[in-house]
Amino acid sequence: MATNPAETWHRAGWVVTDPETIIRDGTIHVSNGRITAVKSGKAIGPDPVVDHGPGVLMPALINAHTHLELGALKEMLPRTAGFETWVRHLIKARAELRPEALLAGIQAGIDELIDTGCGAVGEIATLGLSKAPFFASILGGIWFEEHLGNILGDFPTIPNDPSGRTSLAGHAPHTTSPDLLAGLKRATMHRNKPFSIHLSESNQEVEFIQSGKGSWADLLRERKIDFSSWPLPARSPVDYLEQLNILDEKTLAVHLLQADSQDFETLTACRVSVAVCPRSNQRLHDRLPDLMRMHATGLNVCLGTDSLASCDSLNMFDEMAYAAKRFSFLSPETILAMATTNGARALGLETEYGRLAPEYRFSSVYAPLTAARPETVIEKIVTAQFCGKVEILND
Ligand SMILES: [Zn+2]
Repeated sequence: MATNPAETWHRAGWVVTDPETIIRDGTIHVSNGRITAVKSGKAIGPDPVVDHGPGVLMPALINAHTHLELGALKEMLPRTAGFETWVRHLIKARAELRPEALLAGIQAGIDELIDTGCGAVGEIATLGLSKAPFFASILGGIWFEEHLGNILGDFPTIPNDPSGRTSLAGHAPHTTSPDLLAGLKRATMHRNKPFSIHLSESNQEVEFIQSGKGSWADLLRERKIDFSSWPLPARSPVDYLEQLNILDEKTLAVHLLQADSQDFETLTACRVSVAVCPRSNQRLHDRLPDLMRMHATGLNVCLGTDSLASCDSLNMFDEMAYAAKRFSFLSPETILAMATTNGARALGLETEYGRLAPEYRFSSVYAPLTAARPETVIEKIVTAQFCGKVEILND
C-alpha cells in the first residue's frame, strides 16, 4: 500500500474512471483521501506527482459477497459431493476448528483481498469473529451480522457504529424463521442499511419452500429448528420473501440460481440488487446464474466470490475473468461494472466507491498492462492480462 502526502497527483498511462470512461495519460488529484480532480495530461501546481507507470489506474474492486470466517476451510471440503453434503461437512469442519485457526483464515482472506485490488466487500459474518479484523483493515464495505434459525430472545438490532458500516443479514428463506427474517429486514430499514440474504440457490431450498418437505426438512429437524409454524408451502423462495416484505431496493439477494421468469418479474418490480458468485455456483451446484435474463430485466447485478470453502480465491480479477469466459455475451464494460459501480450501489456505497471521480474516496488499483488503444484496456482488465502484480492505492 502506498503512503502519500495529504495532497498528491497520481498519474498513469490510462485512467479508467468508470466502466464507460477511459482517459489516456490520466492524472488524479487526491486531497486527504478524497479525489478532487481527474484529468488528462500533466498535473498542475506544486503538489507532488506519483507516476505509477504505463498501465491503468482504475477503481478498486468490490467483492459484494464473501464469508471471511470460512477462509480456514479452504481445501477442507469435498468438491463434488453435492450441496447438502457440502453443507454438512462445512458445519462439522467449522465446529472442529479452534478460534485461532478461524482468525488466521480471516486475516489471510483480508490480506488476499487487499493484495488483489479489492477496496470494499460485503462480508457476511455468522460467528462475529471477522468484525475486529475487518474494521482494523483498510477494506471498506459493509460488515453484515448474519442470523439463522428461529428467533431466540430479542430481535437483533444494528449496533451503534459511528462508521455506519455494520448491517444485518438473514441466511436464507429455508434456514431462517420468517419472524426473524422480517425482524432483521425491519431493523435494516429503520437505519437505511442494506440487507443481504442468500436466495433461490439450491434445489433443496426450492423443494423445501414449495412443499415444507424433502431432505432439507430432515436437516432442519436434525438441527432442532422447528419450522412447523412457517407459512409453507409457497410458490417459490422469491415469492415467499415478497410475502414477508423482505424485497426492496435495499435488499441484496445472493445467487438466484433457481429463479424463474415470474421470480425475475417480482425482483425487478421490487428493485432488489443481485450478487452472483459464478465460480462458487459452478462448484457447489454445477450451475451458473441466468445473467442474460438478469441483465435483460435491468436488475442491478454485482459480483462476489463467496467464501474459500467453495471458491479457489477471493481475487475479484479471477472472478471477472471467469465471468468473461463463461458469459461471453457480456461486454467487458458490463463485467467491470458488476465488480465496481454495481457492487457499490448494492452495498449503499455508490457515492464513495466504485468510481474515480471528484468527491469519491481514492480507493484505486494500479494494474500493470500494455494497451495501444482504449478499447483493449477494459478487455485486458476483465481478463486479468497483466504484466505484473496489481497494487492497491488507498490514501
Ligand atoms: Zn454466501
